[in-house]
Amino acid sequence: MRVTDNLKTIQEKINDACRKSGRNPEEVKLVAVTKYVSVERAQEALEAGVVHLGENRDEGLLAKWEVLKDRPVWHFIGSLQTRKVKSIIDVAEYIHSLDRLSLADEIQKRAVKPIKCFIQVNVSGEESKHGMSPSDVLDFIRAIKSHDKIIVEGLMTMAPLTDDEDRIRNCFKELKSLREKIQQLSIENSPCKELSMGMSNDFHIAIEEGATFIRIGTALVG
Ligand SMILES: *Cc1c(COP(=O)(O)O)cnc(C)c1O
Repeated sequence: MRVTDNLKTIQEKINDACRKSGRNPEEVKLVAVTKYVSVERAQEALEAGVVHLGENRDEGLLAKWEVLKDRPVWHFIGSLQTRKVKSIIDVAEYIHSLDRLSLADEIQKRAVKPIKCFIQVNVSGEESKHGMSPSDVLDFIRAIKSHDKIIVEGLMTMAPLTDDEDRIRNCFKELKSLREKIQQLSIENSPCKELSMGMSNDFHIAIEEGATFIRIGTALVG
C-alpha cells in the first residue's frame, strides 16, 4: 500500500474519533513510526505530507537523519539508555521516553538547548513495559524542576496488549487524569499539555480520550 492511501484512511479515522468526542482534528499530531522501514519509505511518508517521524533506536534515528536531515521533526520514542543520550540529543526534537532521574540528569548535562520530553508512564503495570509507575510521577516532576534543559511537554504511555477495549480506554483515561495533577503543580518546566498515546491498533480510542500525539507505524508505513 502506498503511504498516501494509508494516510488517507488514518486521517478519516482521526476525523471520526474527533467527531465522536467533540475534538478538533488539528489538535492531533501524527508521528509516523518508521523503525521497521527503509529511509525510502520514510521519505515517501514525508512526501505524503507527514511532518513528524519517530524512531526507537539511536542507530535507526541517525541513519535516517543522515539522509533526511531536518526535513522531518524527529521524535525519539524508544527506551533510551543513558549512554546514548549524547548521540541523539542534537537530532531529536522530542523524547517520548523520559522515565528516570539518571536519564534526566544526562539530558540536562548534554543538551545545549531545552528539549521537549514526555514522561513515559507504565499505566497498565505490565512488567514487560518500560516507564515510570504513575505513583512516582509527581515526585519526579518536582525532582527535575531545576533541570532547565528539560521541558515536560506531556505524558506518554503504551496501552496493554489486549482485545479488551475497556482496559485500553482506562489506561488512556488514567494518563489524562495524571496530566491534570501535574498541571496543578504549576511547575515552570512542566507545562504538560500533551498526551502521547495511541498506536496502529488503538489510536481511535486514544483520540477519544484526549491524545494529542499518536504514534503510528504498521498502519501507515508497514
Ligand atoms: C513501534 C512503536 C509504535 C508504533 O507501533 P504500531 O503498532 O506499529 O503502530 C508506537 N510507539 C512506540 C513506543 C513504538 O515502539
